[in-house]
Amino acid sequence: MEIKQNYNLIKLNTFGISVNAKFFVELNSEKDLAELFSLPEFKDNKKIFLGGGSNVLFTKDFDGIVVLNKLKGMEITKEDAENVLIKAMGGELWHDLVIYAVNKGYWGIENLSLIPGTVGAAPMQNIGAYGAELKDTLFNVEAFEIETGEKKTFTKEECELDYRDSIFKNKAKGKYFISAVTLKLSIMPKPNISYKILSEYLEKTRRTATLKNISDAVAEIRKSKLPDPKIIGNAGSFFKNVFIGETKLRELQKNYPNILHFEEEGIIKIPAGWLIEQCEWKGKRVGNVGVHDKQALVLINYGGATGAEIIELANKIITSVKEKFGLELMPEVNIV
Ligand SMILES: Cc1cc2nc3c(=O)[nH]c(=O)nc-3n(C[C@H](O)[C@H](O)[C@H](O)COP(=O)(O)OP(=O)(O)OC[C@H]3O[C@@H](n4cnc5c(N)ncnc54)[C@H](O)[C@@H]3O)c2cc1C
Repeated sequence: MEIKQNYNLIKLNTFGISVNAKFFVELNSEKDLAELFSLPEFKDNKKIFLGGGSNVLFTKDFDGIVVLNKLKGMEITKEDAENVLIKAMGGELWHDLVIYAVNKGYWGIENLSLIPGTVGAAPMQNIGAYGAELKDTLFNVEAFEIETGEKKTFTKEECELDYRDSIFKNKAKGKYFISAVTLKLSIMPKPNISYKILSEYLEKTRRTATLKNISDAVAEIRKSKLPDPKIIGNAGSFFKNVFIGETKLRELQKNYPNILHFEEEGIIKIPAGWLIEQCEWKGKRVGNVGVHDKQALVLINYGGATGAEIIELANKIITSVKEKFGLELMPEVNIV
C-alpha cells in the first residue's frame, strides 16, 4: 500500500476545495485494510475515511491521514420468495448499487437514484430523497473499530438512523470505518410514489410506476434541479431541514401566515431551502462562493474558494434565518 505525503484533495471532494493531507492512502482490498491498522502513519495520526467526498467541507489542510475507500464488490447473500439480501462493499458507488438493484428487479432504493458518493458513507447520514431513506431497506452494517481494528456488525437498530443522522455521525463519530452494507430489498413490486413531485412527474411524462421508470424519473428530476459537482463545486444540501412543534408553528404563523411547512405524525418540517429563500439568499454570489439559483439549500464554489469562505457564507445565512424566524439552521455537510 503506497503512502503519499502532502497529497492534494481538490479532486477528492465535490466542493473542489484545495487542501493537502499530510498522509494519504487508498484502500483497494481487505488485505490493504489489514495492513492499514498496523501502519504507524495510521496509528499515530488523526485519521479520516473518505468516499466520494460529496458530503465534506475541508476548511484547512488535514494534519493526519486520509484513507480513500475503494473496496469493491456486490453479492446476493440470501434470497427467498419475497426478499433478497444484497451485500455491497463500502467503496462501491451508491448509484451503481441502485442500478444493479433496478436491473435485477429488486425494489427499495430506486427513489435514492443518483445520490452521489459511496455505499460506505450512506449509513453515516441515513441518505434520503424523494420519500425514501436508507433506513427503509438497511439490514446491517459491517464496520471496523478504528482504535482496535476489530470487526463488528451493526444491526439496523444499532445504527440509530434518523433524519440525516446515525450513530456514526453522533456517539460513534470517528470511531468506525464502514466496510460493507447489507440491504434487504423486495422482489415484490413496492412502488413508493408518495412524494408529490415524483408522482406528478410520472404523470406528466405519462409513465407508470415501474422500477425503472421511478429510478429514471428521480434521476431526471435531480438533474434538472441540482448543480452537477463536475461542473460547479457543491456538496448538495448544505443545511438540514428544520423540525418544530405546533406551538412554535402557531407563533411563526402570526408573522408569516404562509410559512411553508409539512406535517407528519405531529412533527412539523420547515424546508430549510424555503427559509433561506425568504432571507433573499437564493442565487446570491459573494466573491468565489454563492447560493444556487435553483435550490437555496445548495452552497456553491464558483472556483478557487476556500472552505473558510464557504463557512463564512453559511454563517451569514444561519444568522439571517435566526434573526428573521428565530430558527437555527444546522449544517448537513461534515465540516473537517
Ligand atoms: C449534488 C449532490 C446531491 C446530493 N443529494 C443528496 C440527497 O439527495 N440525499 C442525501 O442524503 N445526500 C445527498 N448528498 C450528500 C452525499 O451525496 C451523501 O451524504 C453521500 O452519502 C456521501 O457519500 P460520500 O462517499 O461522498 O461521503 P464523503 O463525503 O466521502 O464522506 C462523508 C462523511 O462520511 C465519512 N465516511 C465516508 N465513508 C466512510 C466510511 N466508509 N466509514 C466511515 N466513515 C465514512 C467521512 O469521513 C465524512 O465524515 C448530495 C451531494 C451532492 C454533491
